[in-house]
Amino acid sequence: MITDTIKKFVSRLLTPKPTGPLRIGPESHGIDRRNVSRHAIKVCEVLQHEGYEAYIVGGAVRDLIVGMEPKDFDVATSATPDQVRPLFRRARIIGRRFQLVHVVFGQEIIETSTFRAPANETQETDEHGRILRDNTFGNQEQDAERRDFTMNALFYDPVTEQVIDYHDGVADLKARRIRIIGDAAQRYREDPVRMLRAVRFAAKLNATIDPATREPIATMAELINNVPASRLFDEMLKLLTCGHAMDCLRQLRADGLHHGLLPMLDVVLEQPGGEQFVELALERTDARVRSGKTVSPSFLFAALLWQQVDVRWKQYLEQGEPTIPALSQAVDSVLDEQTEKMAIQRRFSSDMREIWFMQPRFERRIGKTVYRMIEQPRFRASCDFLQLRAAAGQFDSVLAQWWMDLANANDEKRAEMIEDAAALPRPAGQPADPAKRRRKPRRKPAAAPPVI
Ligand code: ATP
Ligand code: MG
Repeated sequence: MITDTIKKFVSRLLTPKPTGPLRIGPESHGIDRRNVSRHAIKVCEVLQHEGYEAYIVGGAVRDLIVGMEPKDFDVATSATPDQVRPLFRRARIIGRRFQLVHVVFGQEIIETSTFRAPANETQETDEHGRILRDNTFGNQEQDAERRDFTMNALFYDPVTEQVIDYHDGVADLKARRIRIIGDAAQRYREDPVRMLRAVRFAAKLNATIDPATREPIATMAELINNVPASRLFDEMLKLLTCGHAMDCLRQLRADGLHHGLLPMLDVVLEQPGGEQFVELALERTDARVRSGKTVSPSFLFAALLWQQVDVRWKQYLEQGEPTIPALSQAVDSVLDEQTEKMAIQRRFSSDMREIWFMQPRFERRIGKTVYRMIEQPRFRASCDFLQLRAAAGQFDSVLAQWWMDLANANDEKRAEMIEDAAALPRPAGQPADPAKRRRKPRRKPAAAPPVI
């Protein structure tokens, strides 16, 4: 009967698909085992040998599938931290509420965590639904479910070379689609940082955010304000150093998301000239990251906040303050505001201060002062910073180049450059081309050295 056929068809549609994850072989996922950390493989092998489940998880699996080099390797296992630790020579349990094990091999640390269960109603949350504690052990399927995006919930077994996929993450990844696991609004409420992560992964992988994942962000962006500052700082730093910071920023701004999501950049971008300076800083940072160089967070934050410092510095100067006290007041007020929002850690903010306070000193190049400047630990970074200012038209580019050459020179060459500079007559207006000046005959420095 037709009705029976229809009934069967409908019931087949309504019956859940046979449960169980996809098991994807190397010919489909494309991970080349040679690109997998041998230490991470070792951790999985040891645990599996002891009868536990153990897989490489998270960002490393995602990056390996798309052919990027993972930053680090994490392992997820059915073994508890107390069961993991004695199996390795150098392993320590870290964390108080949710413990995990750091297995140490020379420079490399394999973070090994026990499968966790996702949030449930009994979980402790703040008044907006943000999860405050998330600390129950679970099984592999639950561990997949509590992760953020489908592409971040893949398990790679280095022994069988299979990828275990509960949420169609491999298909999403291959289609360059960022899709959240579960209900987007609920997942953002539990942890608003996931909104930032969606944008970051989209920029990093040149992917699009699936409509259902993207849609709630516009209205929920302000929840980011409830995230503890230190956590926000960490995520922000990841975003700025992912090698695609400029794309992230464009995306955030295009969607009008930067207001709630990035309180710091919000202020920065609205400064006159701020946008250009930030773009320059981020483009250079992206170029460094992509060519495998390190970036210093202090340098980056010093650059991002400079425009604000500069504007206030000028205001204090106009009020008649001398150069250094004016700068000092500007720096204090900017850092006070920003550290409250962003928890820029003290070790970063003291480096930022050094970079900023070095800037007025670049305007003069008198022998003794120059030598003192070279000895400063942040001289190199300050010099790099000066190049940014020159590129943004805030500082004479020829003089900035002189400082860069000085930073790159050996001691002998430095002495020569400083002596040559000291022999120059005091310039009437803008400093002349130092290349030309160097050709002038050398003189001993005058009693009162000329200020350049
Ligand atoms: P990156 O390359 O930036 O390190 P990642 O995906 O490895 O990216 P991590 O912050 O190192 O990001 O997190 C490791 C894994 O932990 C993620 O892949 C994801 O599965 C899970 N995870 C991280 N943050 C969250 C979060 N806020 N909510 C749910 N799961 C998360
Ligand atoms: Mg990671």
